[in-house]
Amino acid sequence: MAGEPKDDCLFCKIVEGHVPATIVRETDTTVAFRDINPQAPTHVLVIPKAHYKDAAALATADPALAADLLREAQAVADEDKLESYRIVFNTGAGAGQTVFHTHAHVLGGRGMQWPPG
Ligand code: 5GP
Ligand code: ZN
Repeated sequence: MAGEPKDDCLFCKIVEGHVPATIVRETDTTVAFRDINPQAPTHVLVIPKAHYKDAAALATADPALAADLLREAQAVADEDKLESYRIVFNTGAGAGQTVFHTHAHVLGGRGMQWPPG
């Protein structure tokens, strides 16, 4: 069923506490933790506790939860005192998605190039 935990999902395991992570924020519906391979001084992943495969699936199934995720991204940026930052949702393997549980990358603390690689 949509939103149910998935047995083979790494981020569901982080939500359940079965895989350790450096958690920086948690709400009733979301968890934010530091990326294990940071690409910027701040590199935090914000995820819904419920399992959806990508941002579009989340937004379609539960728009309020998608909004929670974006608010939490701002809260992470505020905590790290970032004036500007980037939110990235890699969607699909060709775009670099490797974990198929919706996650917003919050990246900041250094200059950013555009277009991204
Ligand atoms: P994606 O490539 O799917 O957009 O992003 C997945 C992210 O998860 C990558 O940036 C990767 O470094 C991060 N990641 C993969 N495994 C772990 C883990 O076990 N713990 C944490 N904290 N991050 C992870
Ligand atoms: Zn999951």
